[in-house]
Amino acid sequence: MAEWTNWSGKLSAEPRRVVQVGTVDAIRSELLAARDGGWSVRTAGTAHSHYPLLPTDGVILDTRPLSGLVSVDKDAMTATFRAGTKIHACGRPLLEHGLGLLNQGDIDQQSVGGAIATGTHGTGIHLGSFSSAVTELSVLLVDGSVVTCGPDFETDLFEAARLSLGAVGVILEVTLQVREAYRLEEQRWLEPFESVMERIEELTTATRHFEYFWYPGQDRAICKSIDITEKPSQYPLGDEGQRLAWGFEVLPNQRLDPHTEMEYSIPTEHGPSCVADIKHLLSSSYPDVVWPIEYRTVAADDVWLSPARGRATVTVSIHEDVQRDETAYYRAAESVFRSYEGRPHWGKVHYLSTEDLAGDYDRWQDWWHVRDGVDPTGVLLNDALRELRAL
Ligand SMILES: Cc1cc2nc3c(=O)[nH]c(=O)nc-3n(C[C@H](O)[C@H](O)[C@H](O)COP(=O)(O)OP(=O)(O)OC[C@H]3O[C@@H](n4cnc5c(N)ncnc54)[C@H](O)[C@@H]3O)c2cc1C
Repeated sequence: MAEWTNWSGKLSAEPRRVVQVGTVDAIRSELLAARDGGWSVRTAGTAHSHYPLLPTDGVILDTRPLSGLVSVDKDAMTATFRAGTKIHACGRPLLEHGLGLLNQGDIDQQSVGGAIATGTHGTGIHLGSFSSAVTELSVLLVDGSVVTCGPDFETDLFEAARLSLGAVGVILEVTLQVREAYRLEEQRWLEPFESVMERIEELTTATRHFEYFWYPGQDRAICKSIDITEKPSQYPLGDEGQRLAWGFEVLPNQRLDPHTEMEYSIPTEHGPSCVADIKHLLSSSYPDVVWPIEYRTVAADDVWLSPARGRATVTVSIHEDVQRDETAYYRAAESVFRSYEGRPHWGKVHYLSTEDLAGDYDRWQDWWHVRDGVDPTGVLLNDALRELRAL
């Protein structure tokens, strides 16, 4: 029996083993042993998810050794990474080829495999999630076969696997759309919250990336805009909000205080009203919460289980100290998010049922159909995913 916890320490498990795997043979032997032995296998990136996607009493595969850039294709503008590669390990090798990721999130500690499995995203109205940037996948299925899939071959497997919740197979390699390398310049300022919301369309369209944080009790929001620049990098890098350097040097931040997080994707037009309601919820019912609301944007995509599927999206995140019980606040906030057609981030806290999700996703049943087809006995499911299984 091993001990396992996620990044925040809030989730824990006692799997029979946690195994570091870096080769197809090692992963295949774990899958076949689990299938024959009747235990489950969950594949971990860096355990940064707040939703219990990984806890199991079976085996947790730690994919950190499954790492590195495999190849680039400059004609197609794609790059293939082993799935355990951390996002911070993508930037420099891509730059050596004159390339860069299309976008990345708030931190760069996650794995590429984990980022695509939950629809991880950054901010920018024209920029989609990691899942939407996938152009090809190599997947090791529970029967031991390795299948390559893409938008024009093994299409259903591709659709299910590019946002898979870790339940379709073990992703070995991920091919991502990339672009020519670019430098970014960021700016940070304080602005009255009401003014930010009045100007939100202007702010989100003026630069490549815009986001803001608003802390309970404050009149002003902390705004951040980041845009492409031809200016040379400035080293040493300034603090967050003042950096001018390569994209992968400017986009990530340090988020060291352990917390939990709930995030909902809302149709863009509802973003301002939704935030106003969450703000009111905080002041009226949860005045002791000190953690912020974060507001970002994501482009619409067509990924089966993407929270941004079919609609231009605003993501609204709420946070709470990991030592505090977030349940009442998050449940109340979830009702607000749901009243604005919110869809949950797959890697963050939510309390939805399969009935709720079937209403959110037109391909929910199809996703389960493909998943169950390649893993009929549920080797890749844990308790949380079994709860979500389509009826
Ligand atoms: C401090 C912090 C900041 C964050 N910032 C952002 C942000 O800016 N934007 C955002 O969208 N999210 C953000 N997140 C959420 C985070 O990006 C997601 O939870 C992401 O899935 C974590 O990646 P991971 O490598 O840690 O995956 P894990 O948490 O280890 O796993 C997540 C899922 O990926 C699956 N998985 C991992 N590797 C594989 C593989 N090789 N094959 C098959 N399945 C696999 C797992 O089985 C699991 O279902 C943040 C989380 C934290 C804690």
